[in-house]
Amino acid sequence: MSTIVQQEILKLQAKGIRITPQRQAILQFLIENHRHPTADEIYQALAENFSNMSVATVYNNLRLLKKLNVVKELTYGDHASRFDYVTSDHYHAICKNCGLMVDFYYPGLEDVQQAAASLTGFAIDEHRLEVYGLCPDCQKKMATEK
Ligand SMILES: [Zn+2]
Ligand SMILES: [Zn+2]
Repeated sequence: MSTIVQQEILKLQAKGIRITPQRQAILQFLIENHRHPTADEIYQALAENFSNMSVATVYNNLRLLKKLNVVKELTYGDHASRFDYVTSDHYHAICKNCGLMVDFYYPGLEDVQQAAASLTGFAIDEHRLEVYGLCPDCQKKMATEK
């Protein structure tokens, strides 16, 4: 188990959250496979180790972790929600062909919140940004298919 996982578990325990083996596995999966899985993908990955785990268990745990601000739920239209372990603010590049979602960091966009607040009078507390295109693998595939 990585130190980040251990630290996160200690933080949750300090808040009085019970860490069941399933809850720990879900948290560990989210932290160590930073690929923005859906609840279903988490279930698929962990089901063989936990015969009594259901998709509902995964959802309940994700809901709790979301409430505790440990994970973010990313919703994209009609597609299944993806879950992201909350690190620092980051943005997503999404492949229009295979759905791969990659994090990137770009400082300075906090200014947009300030600008938006003064332009609209809103009290802004978050923002998100996605850019869309083709990932390197899909670009290569497209190139060889020609
Ligand atoms: Zn792709
Ligand atoms: Zn992310």
